[in-house]
Amino acid sequence: MKITAMNLYIVAPRWLFLEIETDKGITGWGEPVIEGRASVVKAAVEDLSGYLIGKDPMPIEDHWQAMYRGGFYRGGPELMSAIAGIDEALWDIKGKYYNAPVYDLLGGKCRDRIKIYSWIGGDRPADVAEGARRLYETGCTAVKLNGTEEMHYVDSFEKVLKVSENIAAVRAALGYKMDIGVDFHGRVHKSMAKVLARELDQYHLMFIEEPVLSQNNEALREIAAHTATPIATGERMFSRWDFKNLLIDGYADIIQPDLSHAGGISEVKKILSMAEAFDVAGAPHCPLGPIALAACVQVDACTPNVFIQEQSLGIHYNQGSDLLDYLADKEVFRFKDGFIDVPKGPGLGIAINKEKVIEAAKTGHNWKNPIWRNYDGTVAEW
Ligand SMILES: [Mg+2]
Repeated sequence: MKITAMNLYIVAPRWLFLEIETDKGITGWGEPVIEGRASVVKAAVEDLSGYLIGKDPMPIEDHWQAMYRGGFYRGGPELMSAIAGIDEALWDIKGKYYNAPVYDLLGGKCRDRIKIYSWIGGDRPADVAEGARRLYETGCTAVKLNGTEEMHYVDSFEKVLKVSENIAAVRAALGYKMDIGVDFHGRVHKSMAKVLARELDQYHLMFIEEPVLSQNNEALREIAAHTATPIATGERMFSRWDFKNLLIDGYADIIQPDLSHAGGISEVKKILSMAEAFDVAGAPHCPLGPIALAACVQVDACTPNVFIQEQSLGIHYNQGSDLLDYLADKEVFRFKDGFIDVPKGPGLGIAINKEKVIEAAKTGHNWKNPIWRNYDGTVAEW
């Protein structure tokens, strides 16, 4: 079998899809994207395609090594997302070739179903209790919301209280029937992160996420000293080498590698296995599209330390298109009582509606995250 073509589609709301074609008629899909840099990742995939076209798609590990180690310069979000999407598509091809789900080729499933969580609200949370209640009525028992708006290095305690009031409202509505994750989104600096973490401790959260930017992970030591809440991070870390010191330092309780950012199925399976040896849980990051989620579910199915999966159905980013829109069979991601069943289909276990993808790619998108500023005009983290 030989790779004959690598087709790229920039599609709404903010995604990039890759289809790898072969001379045997088997095609594989991947989602190589970094939110806000779809065109850059597209260029990176095109650059790597010169190496891959004409080659056998089956030796995935060797292709991964060639794409990663074969470049003198390596790593970072755009290149690792390009490798990730290619890796996903190659696993899809391999699974279809052997008529087996990817998780069967990775050792077989170790669970019957996968717990998922949903998002509430936007960046400026309001009516979160109502949002949580609506989700609870659908069977969902875990939610995540963004904590704060922009936050300066040292900022008003009023902003901390506003987060606290939002979480208190969810607790008042649903008690402890709903698990809550609060995403600090790397918006908070160390000085306020410890204040916020300590304030939220009273709500016994499922986790706090990216309490600081992952470039500032050494600050987790001090934050961990101020809270008993599990600390999650890792959506902006891209390889085993990025994760190793975090695991050695021991201040993270949950890692959140992104299947479409951190080198794909091959790499995230290894990252999560490293974490298992440090007694650290996994909760793969996935506010992305259906191919990225399908890749997550394949890894979740065969990875025991994953305890929950993020997914983007109805997320505030999905304007103009949602998680299920490009799937031929939308049943594969039917959520039942807050869980997804382990899928049975070969490869990634999904069928893409290619006509819909081609049509959407005619319009494409140019999604960028907003640039926020603090009260004094300085640029804030979004
Ligand atoms: Mg996050």
